[in-house]
Amino acid sequence: MATIKISQNNLYHNLNQLALKSGSKNKIAAVLKDNAYGHGIELMAKLLHKWGIKEAVVINNQEANKIAPLFQNTLILNDTPTLHPKLSYAITEIKALKHAPKGAKLELKVDTEMHRNGILMHELPKALELIKQKGLKLYGVFTHYRSADELSSEFAWQKANFEEVKNIVRKAGFKGVRFHSHNSASLLRSREFNEDIARVGIAMYGYNELPAPFEQIELKPILSLWAKRSSTRVLKKGQRVGYGGDFRAPKDMIISTYDVGYGDGLFRGSSKNPLILRDGLPILGRVSMDFISVESIKEELCIFDNAQQVAKHFNTISYEITTALKSQIEREVI
Ligand SMILES: *Cc1c(COP(=O)(O)O)cnc(C)c1O
Repeated sequence: MATIKISQNNLYHNLNQLALKSGSKNKIAAVLKDNAYGHGIELMAKLLHKWGIKEAVVINNQEANKIAPLFQNTLILNDTPTLHPKLSYAITEIKALKHAPKGAKLELKVDTEMHRNGILMHELPKALELIKQKGLKLYGVFTHYRSADELSSEFAWQKANFEEVKNIVRKAGFKGVRFHSHNSASLLRSREFNEDIARVGIAMYGYNELPAPFEQIELKPILSLWAKRSSTRVLKKGQRVGYGGDFRAPKDMIISTYDVGYGDGLFRGSSKNPLILRDGLPILGRVSMDFISVESIKEELCIFDNAQQVAKHFNTISYEITTALKSQIEREVI
């Protein structure tokens, strides 16, 4: 079966870079949603805990239940609030405040113009009033940038909007509320960071998605995907391999079948433009559900160790390449 290897050294290198940017390891909230972007949520949580990360972010209660004991607090982006001392819940519309249980730790998501989720800025006073009336616990207030990775004025005015949000919350008399707006891109591009936490996902996994004009902080991908040899055969000149026989041997070749395929989350793509594996070998013919063919006799083959390069090949982003990897693949720390 295919294996995912996670490099502890590379992870700790990335965390060091991020701690330099945020000013402290205590300010890094590790985003572990979607099985830690496909890296494996429990394994990642353990490594992060060992390094001293205290804050986590996940998508739902199910993910939180797997890791919550390892962190001071885990923010849940999209689920029903429960009473739990170590869990806080994103509130993304006023309606949700009406049903929130007293005593639950709530973090208001404010829509500063991304228009995906969040309470509109002009509704904020009403939301704060409701929190007071119902005696709810306001633990945090946050927002999300839509263009943090682009060189434009958008980031600047969204940031200004969030400063306005902070003023409104403080003026309403709320104390000890934590504020956060940054993801990886906005933390990496910021010269000054003065918020309580930054919610860092992709950078921790080793990808800097900022274009060239920004300072290029070196990050190292932590995930590599490996497959084992299943069988080997000679392909005579002119013989074809795999579904549809898309690949025709231009000469006599020794090829092997390796145990990874689209069933594991490796993109199938097109056999006309095959993925080139880490060591320079192309996949021969079509990707099957559980197998690929390659001109190699190695017992173990690295499929990729840089999801950004794979993403470029498939015209997508590194996030989608790693997140597609199925949770049943074995994962190990190296
Ligand atoms: C996924 C997510 C992040 C992390 O984004 P990266 O670009 O991976 O750093 C931060 N905040 C919210 C609200 C998210 O949904």
